[in-house]
Amino acid sequence: MRILLAEDDLITRRLLEAQLKNWGHDLVVCSDGQQAWEELKRETSPKLVVLDWMMPGMDGLTLSREIRKLETKPYTYIILLTAKSRKEDVIEGLEAGADDYITKPFDPQELRVRIRAATRIVQLQEELLAALRASEFQATHDSLTGLWNRYAILGILQKELSRSDREHLSIAVIMADVDHFKKINDTYGHLAGDEVLRQTAGRIVSSLRPYDSVGRYGGEEFLMVMPSCSTTNALNIAERLRSTFEKNPISNAEGTFPVTLSFGLVVVNGKDCQNTDIIIGRADESLYKAKNSGRNRVEFGGEIPSHCSDCA
Ligand code: GH3
Ligand code: MG
Ligand code: MG
Ligand code: MG
Repeated sequence: MRILLAEDDLITRRLLEAQLKNWGHDLVVCSDGQQAWEELKRETSPKLVVLDWMMPGMDGLTLSREIRKLETKPYTYIILLTAKSRKEDVIEGLEAGADDYITKPFDPQELRVRIRAATRIVQLQEELLAALRASEFQATHDSLTGLWNRYAILGILQKELSRSDREHLSIAVIMADVDHFKKINDTYGHLAGDEVLRQTAGRIVSSLRPYDSVGRYGGEEFLMVMPSCSTTNALNIAERLRSTFEKNPISNAEGTFPVTLSFGLVVVNGKDCQNTDIIIGRADESLYKAKNSGRNRVEFGGEIPSHCSDCA
């Protein structure tokens, strides 16, 4: 376990360092409170810290209070090291945010078991956090393509609308659908179809800007949310994407086959419209126009709300 050790007294510091290293821990060693604080502010700082109470710069009590204000994730487990062993001192230390304390001169056996208990708690926290992150990822991503799922991409659109309202910048929204995808499934099988969807998703992501977002809206439908994007830019991006698919057939183990997409595009400013249903509805209408006009094309549905009485 990585442990931050802050102790100003040279002899105590050397003793602690030797013991902790001997038990297999990696140490970040600080000789005063200010140095410890600089380390603790880093996101990658150890989540188990042993702080001397009395130190120049910042004392262990102040450091404990400051660590708690940081609300680190995972939680930082604090062991205070102190020559003060009166009940009031212990209470004051724990009130400041410490989890445990060890009195000096320290007993190596006691130190060992307290560090072991702290390690268990920090590891448990890390495992919980990793599990939480994994389930957050699952809840917001599509498992086949790795793109945002429908729920998440709509959330992103809503957030971008609020931002666009504040910053007066327009957002382009594109709904794209793979043409005659059913034929791919029927001819090559579902696994080949899945692979086409994965590669389609990858191509879309790599052709957009880093701050654009793409979600799998439905089976073979993809929703792109492009903040700070003018109509001219959005039309160029959609047309470039359409042509990339047209010119580059998708290959997989089953063979190489042409895949084209149809696109419905609308441009919206958050100050005019905050309703995602209306925006998606408009993008969908344009997509269906593209389908009915022969597929493999981009249809522009206009700038909302130029014809939108609901949000004007
Ligand atoms: P159009 O050009 O009108 O969009 O025709 P299409 O064949 O693409 O559209 P249609 O809605 O008729 O068919 C979509 C197909 O996509 C039907 C469905 O089985 C398939 N599909 C949906 N999700 C998946 C998936 O995750 N994997 C695979 N392999 N197929 C899927
Ligand atoms: Mg000291
Ligand atoms: Mg389709
Ligand atoms: Mg479809």
